[in-house]
Amino acid sequence: MSLENNNIRLAIIGGGLAGLSLSILCAQKGVNVVLFEKGNYPSHKLCGEYVSLESWSFLTQALKIDRESHQLPHIKKLVVSSHTGKTLEAELPLGGFGISRYLLDQLLYQKALESGVKIHCNCSIQETSKQGPEFHLKDQDGQSYTADLCIGAQGKRSNIDKWLQRDFFIKSKEKNNYIAVKYHIQTTQEPDTIALHNFDDGYCGISKIEGQNTYCLCYLTTAKNLKRHGSIEQMEQDVLHKNPFLKKIFQESIFLWEKPLTISQINFSEKELIKNDIICIGDAAGMIQPLCGNGMSMAFHAAYMLSEKINNHLYNSNLQKIQQSFQKEWQATFTTRLKSARLIEKLFGKKWSTNIAISLLRKSPLLTKKIIQLTHGKDFFLQP
Ligand SMILES: Cc1cc2nc3c(=O)[nH]c(=O)nc-3n(C[C@H](O)[C@H](O)[C@H](O)COP(=O)(O)OP(=O)(O)OC[C@H]3O[C@@H](n4cnc5c(N)ncnc54)[C@H](O)[C@@H]3O)c2cc1C
Repeated sequence: MSLENNNIRLAIIGGGLAGLSLSILCAQKGVNVVLFEKGNYPSHKLCGEYVSLESWSFLTQALKIDRESHQLPHIKKLVVSSHTGKTLEAELPLGGFGISRYLLDQLLYQKALESGVKIHCNCSIQETSKQGPEFHLKDQDGQSYTADLCIGAQGKRSNIDKWLQRDFFIKSKEKNNYIAVKYHIQTTQEPDTIALHNFDDGYCGISKIEGQNTYCLCYLTTAKNLKRHGSIEQMEQDVLHKNPFLKKIFQESIFLWEKPLTISQINFSEKELIKNDIICIGDAAGMIQPLCGNGMSMAFHAAYMLSEKINNHLYNSNLQKIQQSFQKEWQATFTTRLKSARLIEKLFGKKWSTNIAISLLRKSPLLTKKIIQLTHGKDFFLQP
């Protein structure tokens, strides 16, 4: 397919961080962008809400998101605790900042509208097909759309993955799935610190976001763990409270929502980057373990990489070239990170291995720094 003029029509499935960022960057270069989001803005999303500083320049310079006016906390320290309360403290080599997804997605949504992106909210894409050079999409009401390029930014797991018969969806096994739970709380933790408290078969992150004294508490555990204990409340009492830090936080903090936000069927299997000619970005391309606190930056970085390919190739290239060059760069940038994260996660979650890891890392701040760096990149907008 030849993209001979800048009148190309780009369709993006999913208006989370990856989809919104890509839409803004392409619209700013004159591409006709239509974005489909099955939900609405603003709304809460399940996420730990700690953003690594590697996407700082991208957000402030490329997307023009203003951190100062929202008084977002700068997070520089990490505290990890084992199931029994043994702790490790470390400086974060790069650090990050806290922002709720309620605010971040809303800021990006507004920027996308200002940039001329056409956004269909409450619009779930159910089917896609390619006929000749054109992509055809159909939403839940049977409405059809055509596009020259179609990008999948549908997040970790979506109905469209089923439609596309993606391997990770077909082969996913109930027994390997995870669930996640999130609350906003008011608590007393240092605002410049992100805490990672381990418990049997899971871990819980706590870090400051915007708003006075407001923190995000988000944990990930196996679906089996929840099944074993019957309900979230029971599991928290029986399992999470065994970690003395978590027990104190659960007992002494103010929980700001009546009910937590929950999601299930999370899995970290490898995914195809391109399926039926649709290029995937963000979690739709591959999910990093949340304990690395880096999935959002990967979503931003992949959107930036792909926007460069789309915008640079507009006048003189074709779909295959965009796909090949994106795939090569994505793999070179993220494959080691994803593999390292899988290995690191194996150290935590089990009582004995967490204790050994914490004892070892306490003796070697350099090794701790190296491990954190393995799962993170540099500021990609300044140093592409
Ligand atoms: C428990 C947990 C904690 C985490 N904590 C952190 C953290 O602290 N820091 C960090 O950097 N990362 C964290 N992550 C990862 C981070 O949340 C993701 O990497 C990030 O949200 C990926 O962005 P995305 O745009 O790919 O997906 P999303 O933000 O999930 O967006 C996908 C969008 O697609 C829409 N959609 C899906 N299907 C369709 C369809 N058929 N039609 C239209 N729209 C559709 C969805 O409604 C959604 O809005 C965490 C993840 C988990 C599970």
